Amino acid sequence: MPDVFADLVGQDEAVDTLRRAAAAAAAVLHAAHHPPAAGTSPGTGPAPGAGMTHAWIFTGPPGSGRSVAARALAAALQCVHGTGCGTCPGCHTTLAGTHADVRLVVPEGLSIGVGEMRALVLRAASTPSGGRWQVVIIEDADRLTEAAGNALLKAVEEPPPRTVFLLCAPSTHPDDVSVTIRSRCRVVPLRQPSAAAVAEVLVRRDGVAPDVAQWAATAAQGHVGRARRLARDPEARKRRDAVLAVPRRLTGVGTALDAASALIEAAEAEAEASVAETDAAERAALQTALGAGGTGRGAAGAARGSAGQLKDLEKRQKSRATRAQRDALDRALVDLAGFYRDALTSALRAPVAPVHTDTAALAEAGGQKWAAEGALRRLEAVLSCRAAIEANVKPRIAVEAMMLSLWKG
Ligand SMILES: [Zn+2]
Repeated sequence: MPDVFADLVGQDEAVDTLRRAAAAAAAVLHAAHHPPAAGTSPGTGPAPGAGMTHAWIFTGPPGSGRSVAARALAAALQCVHGTGCGTCPGCHTTLAGTHADVRLVVPEGLSIGVGEMRALVLRAASTPSGGRWQVVIIEDADRLTEAAGNALLKAVEEPPPRTVFLLCAPSTHPDDVSVTIRSRCRVVPLRQPSAAAVAEVLVRRDGVAPDVAQWAATAAQGHVGRARRLARDPEARKRRDAVLAVPRRLTGVGTALDAASALIEAAEAEAEASVAETDAAERAALQTALGAGGTGRGAAGAARGSAGQLKDLEKRQKSRATRAQRDALDRALVDLAGFYRDALTSALRAPVAPVHTDTAALAEAGGQKWAAEGALRRLEAVLSCRAAIEANVKPRIAVEAMMLSLWKG
């Protein structure tokens, strides 16, 4: 039976660390429940819990499985066997997101605010109801506002005895995680998994045919979730095809600007599709909670209050939509970068496999036409577009500049 670490693709070292942590955490609980009898010596082995600590940071490139790793450790901490067996109620409810002592923060907007963090820290300080650990998982800890980071730091500096914080961030660079928080955490670096490891998990867990799995794993460049979508979702494949058709369509200023519009609009449409369902469900839930349409005494005051809550919800949803658009656009840019990287390696006659096997012939033709310098300039244009958007340049402006560079070379 696969345990909770089975989905950590190609991360043997990290899995070793996490298994040791789970065993150490179980030893801490055991020692607390079975204190040595008075007068006996405490024994000689390592202190219980030597492999365990109260704050962890999981780092790695997008798709390497930062949040998968954090959830797996959370499950192992709540596992009734202390191992992360994958089948007991502790493991099961943690992985399903319903364990009472595991809180998951997934920032919906571009940042996590201080109010949310304070409330979380407060709740995390309570005694675990299941008698094991209070676990707080913070996905995208790099999106904490400074004030939220300070609220978290206080909790990490003086952690309640049974509380564990699991942070996920791209790296431990000070731009991602403050130096003070970093200094209180143990870091678990995850690597970009190999295409072979990603393909293996697609076949084993998702039942994807081996040749499709191999193609999707390579095209996704080590991003496990992206590989699964490419393997299973025809819409995702169609969007990727459209992006990879861009290079051969760039024949002039007009087509370059058209391609920019098309890319932005495709990202908007993809983002809209991905948030529409959640948005509608949230609005319906809020309206039910507010008892929409009530008329009795106090209904006017309630209506004023509910207008405020609706406004808050709309604000949250707008900020989530913005983030979904950025993420969709970024995926498209990563695909495009892969194409020019293939052109470059082909121009250099480098003995490496292409990222996009299905456009390898086109990339090769590009590499011949542009030579290595031209392919490199185009690759750099894509990468600086990503950097510009990351630095808050308006996406349309950054993408238009990129398309013009790709056309002119
Ligand atoms: Zn278990």
